[in-house]
Amino acid sequence: MLTTIGVLTSGGDSPGMNPAILAVARTAQSKGVHTVGIRNGYDGIFTGDFLRLGDRAMSTILERGGTILQSSRCKKFYSEEGREQALKILREAGIGGLVVIGGDGSLTGARFLHQMGMPVIGIPGSIDNDLYGSDMCVGVDTAANTIMQLVDKIKDTARSHRRCFLVEVMGRGSGYLALTTAISSGAQVAVIPEYRVNIPRILHLLRERYEKTKESSTIILAEGVCPAGEFIRRLEEEAGDSSLLQEVRTTVLGHVQRGGAPTHFDRLLACRMGELAVNALLQGESGSVTTLNKGRMALKDLNDVLGRKRHPAPEIIRLARHLQIEFGDVVEPS
Ligand code: ADP
Repeated sequence: MLTTIGVLTSGGDSPGMNPAILAVARTAQSKGVHTVGIRNGYDGIFTGDFLRLGDRAMSTILERGGTILQSSRCKKFYSEEGREQALKILREAGIGGLVVIGGDGSLTGARFLHQMGMPVIGIPGSIDNDLYGSDMCVGVDTAANTIMQLVDKIKDTARSHRRCFLVEVMGRGSGYLALTTAISSGAQVAVIPEYRVNIPRILHLLRERYEKTKESSTIILAEGVCPAGEFIRRLEEEAGDSSLLQEVRTTVLGHVQRGGAPTHFDRLLACRMGELAVNALLQGESGSVTTLNKGRMALKDLNDVLGRKRHPAPEIIRLARHLQIEFGDVVEPS
């Protein structure tokens, strides 16, 4: 019988990890099951950095960004020997099931533990929204709102000086954040890894706006394409005459995108996923991840999710096209 569940957050943090921890602990409590928080990702297993998640620990975490359990990247967990040791420690601590909150890498580690016999359920916490099989990951909505609000501010000054702003946002392998925030913030260009950038078209668009309509422009660049500085160099090389590009200002948003109080959407999503994860463990499920599909929660097998990437949905691509956002050309399969 499952009497104690462990929960940890691993890899890149995302806003909403705390509500997920809270929902795991509260749901477990409502079923008479204890929850142990493991600090510092997989590292905390080796150091025995365990914390009983009672009511006091939970009282103020819902609205806090980051993760109260802290996170890490743990080298030891990549080796089979390390994972065997981790499994032994978890068993000795009486942990009969584990909830892992994290991105692709953390969930890959979770699948190993499941394969070794530890019941594990994953919760996707990642601002990139690149987990295959879920419409949204915990943290994406907050990050997108942060980007949108910052771009709104940037646009105020851009308009006042008729400048072009290049804003670099997170998204290593996925253009979801860049494309959807280009839509919500009214940017003219999104440069995303899924589509091949068309520099001549971007320059034409910038010139038209700058010289003819006297308007400012905003370009949102996903970090996964290239760093902002390199992108500007590519524009300059193609432009030849750089008078237009002297007016381009660059903002790299960086880690502000990860922080901040989770939005209502992220809190609710995280709570729904935390509840589902605990119910699943109590029903003897393992090796799955909680997902959101067309508004409903669903468990999916980690084998069907890992090793694949989720990209912006066709409806979003179509919408961006209809809104006349320039986002490049389809990459033909080679
Ligand atoms: P994220 O979970 O945000 O994708 P990482 O890829 O850095 O972040 O993974 C976080 C941690 O998960 C790693 O430091 C490691 O402890 C564990 N992990 C990642 N990939 C694997 C793997 N292939 N095998 C075992 N553990 C892994």
